[in-house]
Amino acid sequence: MSIYATWLWIDDNSHVIGGCAQYVKATAEEARAAGGYAASGGRYWYRDRSIACSCGQQAPIIYQGSHINPSAEDPRGGAVLFCGVPNHCHPSVRGTDTDDAPSVDYGRLAVHQDDGESGAVILDRKQITQLRDTLTEWLDSRDPQETPNA
Ligand SMILES: [Zn+2]
Repeated sequence: MSIYATWLWIDDNSHVIGGCAQYVKATAEEARAAGGYAASGGRYWYRDRSIACSCGQQAPIIYQGSHINPSAEDPRGGAVLFCGVPNHCHPSVRGTDTDDAPSVDYGRLAVHQDDGESGAVILDRKQITQLRDTLTEWLDSRDPQETPNA
């Protein structure tokens, strides 16, 4: 059993059911016939991947190389996940009935490519802070192509 809880996932499974154009309203029979479908409160949808996403919850853009400028129209696939370990899974209390535990100061950053390749690393609190600060700096920069530490 995994001790990790997912805080962030960017993948192709996060489209908003009932809110994304890829989810087409259907009868129960139509939805079941389509294979993968969603149901809620007697309503049914099937997913038509040939329809453009309208919710913006898309998979990452597939990396094509360091010499290729990415664009929104590029193929998408894979996933990025950030996971933490809940306090009740801290080694000092695991297997007990208490949630009163120290924080687990590690997070798992995982990247899964569409071709099945994947990797994951564990970051400590200092590294997670550096990652956060870098992402914030990049988002706030006027020219995200600059690399201030290069
Ligand atoms: Zn969507």
